[in-house]
Order: sequence, then C-alpha cells, then structure tokens
Amino acid sequence: MKNPKEEKTFVLVKPDGVRKGLIGEIIKRFEQRDLKIVALEMFESTHEAMDAHYPKDDAWLTRIGEKTKHTYEKYGYDIVKDFGTTENVEIGKVVRTWLMDFMTSAPMVRMVVEGVHAVDMVRKIVGPTMPYLAEMGTIRGDYSADSPAIANAEKRAVFNLVHASETPEEAAHEIEHWFGKSPIFKYPRFGIDA
Ligand code: ADP
Repeated sequence: MKNPKEEKTFVLVKPDGVRKGLIGEIIKRFEQRDLKIVALEMFESTHEAMDAHYPKDDAWLTRIGEKTKHTYEKYGYDIVKDFGTTENVEIGKVVRTWLMDFMTSAPMVRMVVEGVHAVDMVRKIVGPTMPYLAEMGTIRGDYSADSPAIANAEKRAVFNLVHASETPEEAAHEIEHWFGKSPIFKYPRFGIDA
C-alpha cells in the first residue's frame, strides 16, 4: 500500500491560463491547499502529443457530447446548427478537433501535483468543465465564464484554463506521457512532511 500522501495527479495550465497570466495563481491554489508541486515545465505541444493525451474511445466522446447537449437543451440553443448532428459521438469528435487546435495555440505549463487525494482535491480546486457552471472559489469559476453556447458557435473548444486528471489511473498514464523520463522530485514540505 502506497503512502496516501504520495498520490500524484497531472495538471496542465492550458493556453488561455498562460495567456491570462494565471500560471502563478493556479499553482498558488494547489500549494495553499497543502498540495506539493513535484515536477513543473513550460512547453508547446504538438497535435500528435495532444492526440495521444485525450482519449478517443466512444465512451469519452459520448460524455463530451452529453455535456455539450446539456447546455444546448437547457438554454434552447440549436445543436444541429453548430454540429450538424445530435449524435453524442459525432459531437464529441468535432469538439476533439477544436481541442487539438486550442491546446497547440500557445505554450502551456505541465506539472505533477502530489498530496492526499491529490486527484480529487485538484479536480475540486479546478472546478467543473464548463466555467459558467463552476462555483466561485474554484479556478474555473473565478477566472472564466466560458460556455459551449459561445465556444461552439465560434467553432472552438471551451476555454477553461486547466486540465487535471480525473482518476489515479488516468493520472499515471498522463504523468508517463508528459514526463516520461523527466524527474519527479521528492522533498519534505514544511508543516506537511516535516
Ligand atoms: P475536463 O477537462 O473537465 O476533464 P472533459 O474531459 O469532459 O473535461 O473535456 C475535455 C476538454 O474539452 C474540456 O476541458 C474543454 O476544454 C473541452 N470541451 C468539452 N466539451 C466541450 C464543448 N462542448 N465544446 C468545446 N469544448 C469542449
């Protein structure tokens, strides 16, 4: 059994977070919640690397389609007008191509964040996918108001500042993908480990 304090998750500050000058603010919010940054780097992604990062199975595409439809149905927008279909998987595929363009549009910052329940804690600090639904106090709720209703009409991804792994298994896969042979550091944080 691993030490619970050593759970790790993967975080990306997306291009909008970097361009809004929020790198420091985002890191601060993890650190102030007793989470430890154990790897950190600015970089530019390629389409290929992003393609390998985001899942492309039907379950994932369906989930994206469902989240999108939720907003369209709630506010009475016409999904066929923006996507040409009502099929979740097809909507998911279109969103995925916009996501590739967005994630390669400016540098990003990648990091590994460690701590108790790091995966769930970081997701909570980041807030839900759609910023317009995110509570104030979350990163997405405090610094973005984007919605698929605007984003999809403009044929682009939702700008929501941060990517964070959803499960420990996804985190392990993403840490391997983005840090591979790069070092993950170990150090005792004052007040937490020492
Ligand atoms: P999360 O990033 O919260 O884990 P998802 O895995 O569901 O969310 O989606 C991945 C990313 O795809 C989101 O962060 C967002 O940038 C983008 N996205 C999701 N749904 C839409 C949509 N309907 N329109 C545009 N972009 C979307």
